[in-house]
Amino acid sequence: MNKITIIVPCYNEEEVIDLFYPAVQEHVSKIPDCEFNYIFINDGSRDGTLNKLRELSAAHDNVTYLSLSRNFGKESAMMAGIDYADGDAVIIMDADLQHPPSSIATMIKYWREGYDDVCAKRTDRTGETWLKRSCANIFYAVMKKFSTSYEMQRDVGDFRLLDRRCIEALKLLRENQRFTKGLFTWLGYHKKEIPFEVQPRAAGTTTWNFFALFNLAMKGMTSFTTAPLRLMTFLGITVSFFAMIYMIFVLTMALLYGDPVAGYPTLMTVMLFLGGIQLLALGIIGEYLGQIFHESKHRPIYLIDEIDGKRMIYKEVLVPFERNYDKKN
Ligand code: UDP
Ligand code: MG
Repeated sequence: MNKITIIVPCYNEEEVIDLFYPAVQEHVSKIPDCEFNYIFINDGSRDGTLNKLRELSAAHDNVTYLSLSRNFGKESAMMAGIDYADGDAVIIMDADLQHPPSSIATMIKYWREGYDDVCAKRTDRTGETWLKRSCANIFYAVMKKFSTSYEMQRDVGDFRLLDRRCIEALKLLRENQRFTKGLFTWLGYHKKEIPFEVQPRAAGTTTWNFFALFNLAMKGMTSFTTAPLRLMTFLGITVSFFAMIYMIFVLTMALLYGDPVAGYPTLMTVMLFLGGIQLLALGIIGEYLGQIFHESKHRPIYLIDEIDGKRMIYKEVLVPFERNYDKKN
């Protein structure tokens, strides 16, 4: 008998929680030799999500909820679930039923064949705007070019099954600026991709907008490669090289031909161009500096307010699930 923990981060999902549990339960109850439990993480929702979770956990023995002290973001919410999961494997799913529960059986099949990380790969991005699609393309292209030691998986999100050894490894990576998708790749182990079609949201609205995605992409870039810094060095060398050639040209024209090369337009162009490059380089350095700033404080990734109605204090947060928390008392 295998124990599988389903981790569900929830932020303002009151409308979907009641739909989620029966929809998933219907599929997982048919999987042989498996026992499922659920950990819902209330990521500081402002609506009735917490009350819904209280009701759900009271009604079902296999449901636990963690409520964070505020909104920490999906990446941190997932980590809270991973810290507290007690299954032989975990499955991370969105609460909005965009991740079809029918994929779970396939994930478990491959897990039993020996794969440690069975990830669901979306087969089409047609539902998305042109802008979002192009940005995703650029992001993956840049990451592919820059990260040499391992390749970022394309169109693969957080919907996946992780073996216990991936979970234990992930728990060691306690960085604050989390780009979980990259962390999964970093772990390695035996990966298997299975295709799935993203479903429309069951209810409610998405919390992601263009800027949130841009921030996530920047986080991904700055936490997994320092290649942009190197790129700036090369750019600096190249620009200096051309500046030198241009200087020789100007000097030659002035000394040999007495031609005082037209000043204003050239100056303006060069000044603006160099100013732009300098700002860009500073910005890139700033991004990395920001990362260091956040990491150097070593703040916890999340704080838990309550677990199944029990008020928690921070000291308890990082203690392993088994010793720390027993649902029955
Ligand atoms: N989520 C979260 N914290 C946040 C934002 C989102 O836990 O700050 C959860 C959300 O409840 C959902 C999942 O992350 O279960 C994916 O969010 P959403 O559906 O809004 O994103 P999309 O599917 O559009 O990428
Ligand atoms: Mg969604």
